Amino acid sequence: MMAYNLLLTCLVVYHVYSSPAYGQKVVIVGGGVSGLAAAQHLCKKGICDITVLEAEDRIGGRLYTDRFHGEVIERGAQWMHGIRGNPVYWLVSRNYNAVLDEWSVGGTHKLSSGRKSHPATAKLLTASEELYDDFYEKLSTMDKPNSLKNKILMHEMRKAWEGKLVSLNTTIDKDITDAVFYYTMTEWSLEIGERALNVSILALLYYRFLDGGDIKIPQGYSVFLDILQKSIPISAIKVDREVTKIVWQRSKSDGTLGDVSNKSVDSQVKVEFINSEGNKESIFADHVIVTVSVGVLKRYHRKMFLPELPKQKVRAVNNMELGVVNKIFMYYEIKFWNDTDFPMRLLWDAYNASKFADNARWYRDIDLVETHSENMLLVWANAHVSREVLDLSNAEIGRRITEIFQIFMRDDVIPFPDDVFVTRWHKNKHFLGSYSYIAPGLTNFKKRIAAKPLSVDGIPKVLFAGEAMHLHRYGTIDGAYRTGIREASRILKLYSKQ
Ligand SMILES: Cc1cc2nc3c(=O)[nH]c(=O)nc-3n(C[C@H](O)[C@H](O)[C@H](O)COP(=O)(O)OP(=O)(O)OC[C@H]3O[C@@H](n4cnc5c(N)ncnc54)[C@H](O)[C@@H]3O)c2cc1C
Repeated sequence: MMAYNLLLTCLVVYHVYSSPAYGQKVVIVGGGVSGLAAAQHLCKKGICDITVLEAEDRIGGRLYTDRFHGEVIERGAQWMHGIRGNPVYWLVSRNYNAVLDEWSVGGTHKLSSGRKSHPATAKLLTASEELYDDFYEKLSTMDKPNSLKNKILMHEMRKAWEGKLVSLNTTIDKDITDAVFYYTMTEWSLEIGERALNVSILALLYYRFLDGGDIKIPQGYSVFLDILQKSIPISAIKVDREVTKIVWQRSKSDGTLGDVSNKSVDSQVKVEFINSEGNKESIFADHVIVTVSVGVLKRYHRKMFLPELPKQKVRAVNNMELGVVNKIFMYYEIKFWNDTDFPMRLLWDAYNASKFADNARWYRDIDLVETHSENMLLVWANAHVSREVLDLSNAEIGRRITEIFQIFMRDDVIPFPDDVFVTRWHKNKHFLGSYSYIAPGLTNFKKRIAAKPLSVDGIPKVLFAGEAMHLHRYGTIDGAYRTGIREASRILKLYSKQ
């Protein structure tokens, strides 16, 4: 009988600790790449009692493949940046065709003044591209990079550019060298997410490039979401659920414990959300992984967390910034351009702000026009353009961009597009921007504090993932993916399920 009891106990213990279905309840706030990566990793390793609460009516977050006039468009992320050491590339390229797609390589450049371009201008453009490498080399040999935290990227680049011009010994006039410099800074503002005037020089040091170039999936980046969803129970993903409160330490005094008497439930985190019918609901979990963008975290953390986030963490989060980049797709039933016209780099030489009306100063920040497909052009809107014009209607934006084409192509009869689609990531309260960047004052030390879990009695209860929470691959899909895996692993480690 004793042997039987022992066997029974062993069986129960075995069941409790080894069954994949058993265990800890994990709620994941946000069904973007980081949230789905966390969910998949947890479930693969045996914790399948998970719920992903996503506020939008779709998963994917800032990865959003869509169609416009029958063509695949990426409203958000479109490239895998780099191959070597990029887990996303390896997961995707196993099953899908992935092609090299270097951004803005080749094409023509034109001057706003209408002057014919001098061959030396192309040389200057190449020299401007080398600025990054020059700087990176200089920075990577520094002992104490943190001492650079308040140095502004734009100012440092300007100094480097002036030095470069001296060494090039160029006779090109200042209007053109200034235009090339402005062009370079605008390109960077698209990559970084903010104008170089608002970015720390540390952005160049912290971000880690991966070899292999920019890779695109012709059928759409959303295939990565299909890969991520495998191994996540379908019922675990709930869209149209906006999380409003995370009560991570409950107490009798503030009423958050209610009349729950079960000790194990007492220690759980309560997650309140608005369901798809607009009603309030709540769910209890052992751990919660928060993956909302840093823009959302900054704006809503006071309302969202009870008790409030620790002061040090709030300071760190407030030091982080979410940049803004948007895309303008312009569709033409009959295309007006020749195949060699685009991509076109726009160099605003002889730029005189006073010649432009106040509401047209942003023109200068439109610097690159590409063909997206046979009948579609793609124009990038950096933070400045996004803030200045994206309140206008799509049709009006299409008309204004046409004015820019008319300036550069010296042709007053360039037609308006037949249809325009504009993303507005910074206007959506579930994103409030595009990707994070390193603002002056932010250091990786502060980022570590921002990403640190909230623990109760030494147990991490609320964990933080999302692209901005990665030290070196922030702003990317693989950065988001890595943080999801990181936080899921932190939970798995607690239960020795690594
Ligand atoms: C225009 C643009 C171009 C880009 N280009 C590239 C590129 O080419 N290559 C690249 O690698 N990266 C690119 N990125 C960046 C990349 O898309 C992001 O780094 C990545 O998708 C972020 O994933 P995430 O999971 O961290 O955040 P998100 O995708 O923002 O996921 C967070 C989720 O939380 C949800 N949420 C917010 N609030 C709540 C709430 N209260 N309750 C429940 N859910 C909530 C949101 O709806 C969202 O789905 C681009 C982004 C944009 C916008």
